[in-house]
Amino acid sequence: MTDPIAPLTSKDINKDINTAKSADNNAAIVTQMRTLIDTLKTHNYAYYVLDNPILEDSEYDQLRRSLLELEEQYPELVQPDSPINQVGDMPLSAFTQVTHDIPMLSLGNVFDYDELHGFMRRVNDRLNDAQKNPEYEMELKLDGLAVSLKYAYGKFTQAVTRGDGQTGEDITQNAKTIRNLPLWLTAASEIPLLEVRGEVLMPKAGFERLNRLAEEKGDKTFANPRNAAAGSLRQLDPAIAASRPLAFYCYSVNQGLPETIKTQSAALAWLGDIGFSVSAVRVVKNPREAQEYYESVIEKRAQLPFEIDGMVIKVNNLALQQQLGFLSREPRWATAYKFPAETVMTRLNDIEWQVGRTGQITPVGKLEPVKVGGVTVSNVTLHNFGEIQRLDVRAGDMVSVHRAGDVIPKVTRVWHEQRPADSEPVQLPLNCPVCDSPVVLPKDEALARCTGGLFCPAQQQEALIHFVSRRAMDIDGLGASWLISFFEHGLVKTVADIYHLHKHQDELITLEKLGEKSVQNILSAIETSKQTTLARFIYALGIRGVGETTAQNLAQQFGDLDSLMAADIDKLLQTPDVGAITAELTYKFFRAPHNIEVITALREAGVHWDKVEQVVSEGLPLDGQTWVITGALDSMARDEAKAKLQALGAKVSGSISAKTTALLAGDKAGSKMAKAEKLGVKVVGEEEFLALVGRSNV
Ligand code: NAD
Repeated sequence: MTDPIAPLTSKDINKDINTAKSADNNAAIVTQMRTLIDTLKTHNYAYYVLDNPILEDSEYDQLRRSLLELEEQYPELVQPDSPINQVGDMPLSAFTQVTHDIPMLSLGNVFDYDELHGFMRRVNDRLNDAQKNPEYEMELKLDGLAVSLKYAYGKFTQAVTRGDGQTGEDITQNAKTIRNLPLWLTAASEIPLLEVRGEVLMPKAGFERLNRLAEEKGDKTFANPRNAAAGSLRQLDPAIAASRPLAFYCYSVNQGLPETIKTQSAALAWLGDIGFSVSAVRVVKNPREAQEYYESVIEKRAQLPFEIDGMVIKVNNLALQQQLGFLSREPRWATAYKFPAETVMTRLNDIEWQVGRTGQITPVGKLEPVKVGGVTVSNVTLHNFGEIQRLDVRAGDMVSVHRAGDVIPKVTRVWHEQRPADSEPVQLPLNCPVCDSPVVLPKDEALARCTGGLFCPAQQQEALIHFVSRRAMDIDGLGASWLISFFEHGLVKTVADIYHLHKHQDELITLEKLGEKSVQNILSAIETSKQTTLARFIYALGIRGVGETTAQNLAQQFGDLDSLMAADIDKLLQTPDVGAITAELTYKFFRAPHNIEVITALREAGVHWDKVEQVVSEGLPLDGQTWVITGALDSMARDEAKAKLQALGAKVSGSISAKTTALLAGDKAGSKMAKAEKLGVKVVGEEEFLALVGRSNV
């Protein structure tokens, strides 16, 4: 019974059940019933006794439904130990066991409007004509665990869990630590015995905090707030329970209700008045009103401070409740109207790699399509390779997929216990799935990238827009929208094609109302851009991590493009501003054959630059120093200040580190200033800077 392996899914078993049914073979039906019974028992034990479920609730509910349907169809084959009529599971022997004065039962459930109608019809069938179509009261179905509390003359005396419905665990000491559970009820001081029931739960915020702390300490986290509440309340040490953020919400009075109170809604109002927390209540007259309220609560579900898994709908009149009575494990006068499951299990059939617009390689999980949060989901993002490793997920695994409100679905759990024996760990693709260029995953980074930035069709639009931008090749007049339009019409694919646009002059004129004059302007701007600088050209290539400053530093360091393209990682690392990740990405960029083809095509089309004047810094006043500039300067643009510093032999970097010599700080210097102060880097004001460059006369 304690076997932690859960090999059965509802899909598997339903197939077998259908085969058994079509064979009309009693022995086969019994075999299916036994499989379901053994599976449900395993899950009941894990869930109710160990507070550690090994299957999502939605999957468990389907298995239970399958057994229920079989039992309804073949009543003569019902097995004596079927758990269908069982409530919960046996109490933990570590606690004193207490027999309930009145059994604590479960609830039946309905999943849609038709089933809700069916429930109300069954209620009507048991009522006389004058009683038919009674008023109903609706409450939130709180997702925690049921507890019975007793008060003697207003003083709290005992708290007991539901256990197996007949006998529960005495958790009085732990319950005393729940902050909103009243220990003294002045208004009930005349009542010899008051028994109330309700749900102990853990609010979402507290649950997240608890799991975060557990993660930080490397402890086991809880699967959901319900398990966290149950696990906390059933701690042997009340000090641990006291440290957990638990709350109690009351939903019934089972002994000691004042006789003047005749309805469930009035009973809850009274509970609120005497000091209990109660959840929202609505009285409804017919199924349509019930449906409306149910739907309005679904809308608000994500904003509630605690988890609910549906509504509970109860006949409001207490005398009618009494008259309707109970079926074996549930009242006839109430049912749970469950919400569509927000977390479901399904199989991850495959993992596909997609390439984003900036070259990031992201894994997408291909799911066995499944309904979650009311919609069918067949794809789920797995974000990045690091996430795959964190989840330890493989193709073929059973996974839990969560989708709440409009939030995109995500994998919240991998059921490693159910992993197929032949599954293989996921490998990051060596080559881009779109353009076949090498893929790089820099050390300590989670995101892998395609290195074919100039060629990769997935990245081309982004590459084109960056290439023509003002600080790159500065092709005035060729705005992003025209460029995309040319791209979509197949006139440009790579950035090199921009320099062949003049061959398509006629097509350009007829395209999307571009006049002859505009075309001329664009073509002459393209022509003008051919004369550029090496730094601009390097920046225009759009190498990941190579911004303007880094591009200038690379141009200074290497002097010409061929040396830069040939540089190994060590050489690249000698460039100011270039760290390990940028060095690796730059190195790989110039190793992707398609990038080389595009660069060659650009040069052949006439893109050129003047020789870079490499500053020989030796002997200059700021030789060996690294400066960073921040904020706005009054007397000159930052580019100018930078040129002056470089002329004095300083290297100018974009970011501060312990190696920085000085920070030139203008107006509105922000985080860099704070960082400089933290690292003890000298801060130079504009006046001091002007004196320095003035003195040196540059
Ligand atoms: P239930 O939780 O579906 O419904 C009955 C319970 O609802 C009551 O006992 C009470 O605690 C609670 N409740 C909340 N708000 C209420 C309100 N306003 N009025 C009255 N009652 C209210 O039934 P159950 O028998 O406790 O448990 C069944 C649930 O447990 C299912 O959701 C099932 O999926 C889950 N389960 C899961 C596993 C697993 O392996 N994942 C195993 C066993 C059970």
